Amino acid sequence: MQAPATPVGEQARLALLHRAALLDTPPEPELDRVVALAASLFGTSSAMLSLVDSQRQWFKARHGTSLCQTPRTVSLCGHAIAAGAMLVVTDTLLDPRFADNPLVLEHGIRFYAGAPLWLDGQHAIGTLCVVDGQPRTFGQQQQQQLQQLADTVCDLLRQRMALRTAQHQCERLLSVNQAQAGYLLHRDMAPASQTILAPLLASSGSKLGFIASCQLDPEGNLYLDILGLAQDDPVAMDWLLPLLQQHEGRYRLYGFDHILASALSEGEPLVINQPRLFAEDDSRLARLTSLLAIPCFCHGTVKGLMVLADRPDGYEQALVAQLSTLADTVGSLLHVRDLELARQAAEAELARQASVDPLTGLANRRTFLERCQGALLLLQRYRCSFSVLLLDLDHFKLVNDGLGHDAGDYVLCEIAQLLRQQLRDTDQLARWGGEEFCILLPQESSSHAMQLAQRLCDAVASLELSWHEQPIRLTASIGVASTLSAQDNVDTLLARADQALAVAKQAGRNCCRQAAP
Ligand code: GH3
Ligand code: MG
Ligand code: MG
Repeated sequence: MQAPATPVGEQARLALLHRAALLDTPPEPELDRVVALAASLFGTSSAMLSLVDSQRQWFKARHGTSLCQTPRTVSLCGHAIAAGAMLVVTDTLLDPRFADNPLVLEHGIRFYAGAPLWLDGQHAIGTLCVVDGQPRTFGQQQQQQLQQLADTVCDLLRQRMALRTAQHQCERLLSVNQAQAGYLLHRDMAPASQTILAPLLASSGSKLGFIASCQLDPEGNLYLDILGLAQDDPVAMDWLLPLLQQHEGRYRLYGFDHILASALSEGEPLVINQPRLFAEDDSRLARLTSLLAIPCFCHGTVKGLMVLADRPDGYEQALVAQLSTLADTVGSLLHVRDLELARQAAEAELARQASVDPLTGLANRRTFLERCQGALLLLQRYRCSFSVLLLDLDHFKLVNDGLGHDAGDYVLCEIAQLLRQQLRDTDQLARWGGEEFCILLPQESSSHAMQLAQRLCDAVASLELSWHEQPIRLTASIGVASTLSAQDNVDTLLARADQALAVAKQAGRNCCRQAAP
């Protein structure tokens, strides 16, 4: 017996067969009718729609036989496919290739005629064949009719594939729509990416996929921030996981010496359908069956990368073209997200500038007054009393006049730092203006506030500063006011602290005074 030879372009042929997604699917009346028609048209006992896989032939539709598959080695259809032409065997017993074939000896096949199913015009995925238990002749006209019937089956299969491709496109568009809506609603790319990935994996038949955005870390190193990751095969993860670093609960992909980088640097989809060829450079990559990396563009700039892996038959050009459109939608989303993040950062910076004193970095008067209002609410609701301190540097004008305005600025910054060191985290320190500072002490009794004020006076007086080798010594005066009742308000409290400060100045400076009730 002679086993069928392997046809030219076998890998592409198998890829096409698998893409047709017919193997091991349930019978379908449409195709069953075609084989029944073939048997009756040619008067044979059986007819089959045979698909020739790598190791077997499997009958998608069959009439007049209980066989549903056979090894490829015994398949007569395998010979038609290897020859790339219709095969007619008028009497198998007289043909040395088939005379001792088990299908002939055990299943009594004496006559065979099979027309290749040229699904893409180049590769035959199987045959439409008619078979009989008696030797038969099969003239030119019959051969033409059988081939026409096979071609009609191919038309049907092609239409279905086109329909399925369109359905997959629809699903992907739908997922992109959902992702866009989800992003607009939640302003978070992570769930949006996940929304895209699940249907993408299913429709492309990939086992692993991720969507990542290009980012720079504070040191200026480029990395991929993995926004969404989906996998249903641990082998594919074996390739990816060692490439990733965890950072604050997210994955990052650093190090652009690996293969994915070329998709980013070249700005072109990277398709690897034979990772084994890279085995020397990257042994883990060789364990994948295929890899696809598509850069996500917006306005001509690469914003991120969409990666799919382990599609059993590799990524063909038509699929890459479809997915590139999707990748650009992801690129637009990433662009919108970057704009949004930049806007948030600018807003945060404006808010910071509006709340901070630019010279000392302390909170400014506005922030201080807001915090006082907060403390007042606690006073009204929970009777938590609090105190405010107004600190004014003594004869500060002399520093400016004697050493210059820059020296005065320097002193103000040093005093700010000293005060910060003397206070607890819960105390609120701010620059009131000029050479005056204010402090809010939450839940502090007036006697404790006075103790702290004295400590601050002592600390300022002990501070030894110098400006261009000129020593600077300073003192401060402090007015202290504490809340008296829940009816207090911020204005009266600060006015009382200011009066107490004036009393301290009158008393000779470098001292603190408590406001009269
Ligand atoms: P007193 O003990 O009565 O408080 O005397 P003083 O000199 O500290 O008070 P006065 O109000 O006469 O002077 C405050 C000076 O602080 C005047 C102003 O030029 C200076 N000043 C205000 N803000 C700044 C600043 O941001 N930088 C510098 N270098 N000087 C400032
Ligand atoms: Mg002053
Ligand atoms: Mg002063």
